[in-house]
Amino acid sequence: MKILVSNVGSTSLKFKLFDMPEGKVLCEAKIERVGSVTDAIFRYKNLLDSYSEHRESCCVPDYSAGIKMFLDSMTAPEHGVLGSTDEVGAVGFKTVLAKGFYGVHELTGEVLEAMREFLFVAPAHNAPYLEAIGQFRSVMPQAVPVGVFETAFHTTIPLERRMYSVPYEWYEKYGIMRMGYHGASHSYIAGRAKAAKVISCHLGGSCSVCAIENGRSVDSSFGFSLQTGIPHANRSGDADPYIIPFLMNEGMSLDEILGGMAKNGGLLGLSGVSNDLRAVQAAADGGNERARLAIDVFAVAVRRYIGSYYAELGGLDKLVFTGGIGENSAMLREKVCAGLEHMGLILDREKNAACSGESVISAVDSPAEILVIPANEELGVAMRTYEYTEANKIR
Ligand code: ADP
Repeated sequence: MKILVSNVGSTSLKFKLFDMPEGKVLCEAKIERVGSVTDAIFRYKNLLDSYSEHRESCCVPDYSAGIKMFLDSMTAPEHGVLGSTDEVGAVGFKTVLAKGFYGVHELTGEVLEAMREFLFVAPAHNAPYLEAIGQFRSVMPQAVPVGVFETAFHTTIPLERRMYSVPYEWYEKYGIMRMGYHGASHSYIAGRAKAAKVISCHLGGSCSVCAIENGRSVDSSFGFSLQTGIPHANRSGDADPYIIPFLMNEGMSLDEILGGMAKNGGLLGLSGVSNDLRAVQAAADGGNERARLAIDVFAVAVRRYIGSYYAELGGLDKLVFTGGIGENSAMLREKVCAGLEHMGLILDREKNAACSGESVISAVDSPAEILVIPANEELGVAMRTYEYTEANKIR
């Protein structure tokens, strides 16, 4: 069965076509700067004949144009991999949040309505997905659209860790609870790490730490929304809710405050330099104190969650780093692991500095293993989509 996985960002589209259940990738594409009529970038790779294409200065005014561009390449007589889009059985989406639908679901009108109901909680994610799903449903009506919600892996978190200690009626009436996100990434890590007690740190543009016990999520640093947990590239992460009424009383509007927390917080807000750790690190190396502080705050937050989850899991077999920062920043990994030897985490600094791809970076005598595992969220989505279509006999 051919399953197309679509990852929709606010200005980007990524596609991977899988042959399932083998998990073989047939072709993939990435479109950057969706919305630009002069400056979008299109990259396509056919993995069957090693053909690749890179077009700059493209006109991709909206998602529908981007989707068409990819489908044309996927079915092109020269370097396409399929004769027609009819061969695609299902399209798996790495959807984020829908009220009351937290697992893997066919994207029916009811589920799309539930995504709209939580638009306010995940505006940067649900809005582009709703648009892209609508486009796919009209151009590929034969392919079943499946939402692998980022909350799906976390439905196993016990209730006492999901509940906020707020009036119980808020949970009943509005669904206020910790959701947990990055499910596609952490579930892939759980499958690769294969150990009883794992802590997975997905550190990228969005960041979260997940406690995994026997392959199941038992806690996540993400709360009700994606604004929570450790600092992100632009989002503040955990912040006392009373900051909001206090600042309103000082004269700021709610939009200004929420904008500060969602767009001008995190690495960018603290450093004042960039939302990209590479630039923040370069500034810190050059003596910029705020940049240094941003990195320290980030590392402290990751360590705080590792400590909590070590206590919840009652020990640790594997600590895993993944995501753009987790995979590429030896500096950050070293800062996070410094002083955690008492928890059985002994980093090998040379292995850490030299690692590339999936690697063990702990010392040979480290009681717990420290690993870097490159993220593969698309495969996670393809697997869950395939399981769903098999279980529900959808073809
Ligand atoms: P997203 O969460 O948007 O999918 P990624 O997981 O690809 O993004 O992470 C992107 C981030 O990874 C960049 O913003 C940057 O902070 C960080 N990053 C990428 N490469 C490096 C590197 N070599 N050193 C430090 N940080 C890096």
